[in-house]
Amino acid sequence: MVGPQKHPLILPRPPNFGADARPDPFHAKIENAFARSEPLDRTALPRDAFIDPTGQNRAAIEALMAQVSGQILDHLSQAATRSPLPPLAAGDKTGLDLPTTIPPLPTAIAPLLNHLQTLMGQAMNPAHPGYMGHMDPLPSTLSLLGDWVAAALNNNMLSVEMSPGFSRLEPLLMQDIARLFGLGPQAGGLLVSGGSLANLQAIAVARNVKLKVQQQGLAGLTRPPVLLASELAHTSIRKAAMVLGLGTDGVIAVPTDGANRMDVAAVEAAIAAALAAGPFALVATAGTTVTGSIDPLAALGAIARRHGLWFHVDAAYGGVLVFSPRYRDRLQGIDQADSVTFNPQKWLYVTKTCASVLFRQFDHLHQHFQIAAPYMNTDTGWPNLGELTVQGTRHVDVVKLWLTLQHFGKAGCGALVEASYALTETFVQAVRDRPYLTLANEPEMNLVCFRGCPDWVPRDRWDDWNQALQAHLLHQGHCFLSLPQYRGQRWFKAVLLNPFTEPSTLADLFAALDRFAALGLDWD
Ligand SMILES: *Cc1c(COP(=O)(O)O)cnc(C)c1O
Repeated sequence: MVGPQKHPLILPRPPNFGADARPDPFHAKIENAFARSEPLDRTALPRDAFIDPTGQNRAAIEALMAQVSGQILDHLSQAATRSPLPPLAAGDKTGLDLPTTIPPLPTAIAPLLNHLQTLMGQAMNPAHPGYMGHMDPLPSTLSLLGDWVAAALNNNMLSVEMSPGFSRLEPLLMQDIARLFGLGPQAGGLLVSGGSLANLQAIAVARNVKLKVQQQGLAGLTRPPVLLASELAHTSIRKAAMVLGLGTDGVIAVPTDGANRMDVAAVEAAIAAALAAGPFALVATAGTTVTGSIDPLAALGAIARRHGLWFHVDAAYGGVLVFSPRYRDRLQGIDQADSVTFNPQKWLYVTKTCASVLFRQFDHLHQHFQIAAPYMNTDTGWPNLGELTVQGTRHVDVVKLWLTLQHFGKAGCGALVEASYALTETFVQAVRDRPYLTLANEPEMNLVCFRGCPDWVPRDRWDDWNQALQAHLLHQGHCFLSLPQYRGQRWFKAVLLNPFTEPSTLADLFAALDRFAALGLDWD
């Protein structure tokens, strides 16, 4: 516990402080006046509540940081020995086994770190080689450290003044990434908190550019504006339409083909049918959420151009393929996009959140989105990013992205993508080798969607069989696969992005799968 300690609120003036070190009669007078004012009650607050900017508690903080970083390292370097998904602690009503109300008095560090350990033990464990359930990776080392540094500096991406270095670094790095996607010399981008916000911002800009509604809103339009997207597009597209006044009915769901890609003929038909309304944008997906399918970007880009539609590519998941010389062709046509969503927080292993929205004409943001804030200094020659994003105050995400990209290089990023593909091939072969398993489609990315269709189980029990298999794989095979709804049924989704997943991990998984299939449980 915190003992009663006497800290001076006014710290001794450092020698030679400022340009003039001569005795200053005014300073002495002012210091006396402040010394009489009420100091902060230090007995009410822990000594290490803040890091003292004059170094007074450095040793204590250093010990504390060493302790926490030890906890983190233990956690991550032993991730393979825990379950990919933790069981919730039993006993307490909440299942958390933690105090969840605010204590009247400060809590000492030691019990607090114990609570922290409990909480860490109940975390999803994406670092486990058997964690394949979602698009959530283990964190790159430098993004973890970058997040730590960003937190320590506590700058604000709202304005250049509040993040002088980072507000310059972000547009420069995002411009390089936008060019990597082939978006051309006028391209640029922003980091935002998640792909949903990236899609929202892209569609807002598309709407403002195409419909000129920035000032007067949608009320003046004679036709209800609509956009077209795959029936398998991410739900954030409909969410964006709802937020932007189009309503969820403003998204026309285009049917997909047998490979779960948007059907080009169906797109043409949908545009023709929507002409009475006001189609203004075509949204393609590069990496659908359940099957990892990539819409035919080149064909869709050409259609969008022909009809004067804004072409947005939601490459939140699949964008990373630009780093792979071997697989970047799968994104062919993405260079036609007016805007692109790309989430480094997924297959680029950067800690959450780290998502981006890229624009072919970055200038569109100034002309069709910017709301100038009077409290921001504008004469730095750099944009205040808070005027160009939906968010105002924003976390500094660029440090962890920049550090990770510098550390990996393009070659490292490409190698990670290619290793994922190799593992996917092994996985897909194992599915094919088992007649009671079916693939949803030929995987185009490192995402395998499949389900069990055992002919010894009645068809109407297949969802239950797959659900029981999921639990079996977690407990007996130490692998977590998710079981999303896909076309009205439960299908497994395996996302093979953990570089520590080995062929032997997959062998264990399929051995557990075979054991389950051989159980011959009674499903009638
Ligand atoms: C993940 C994803 C999103 C949403 O990103 P969030 O960061 O979860 O908001 C959007 N679109 C696609 C295709 C995605 O895979």
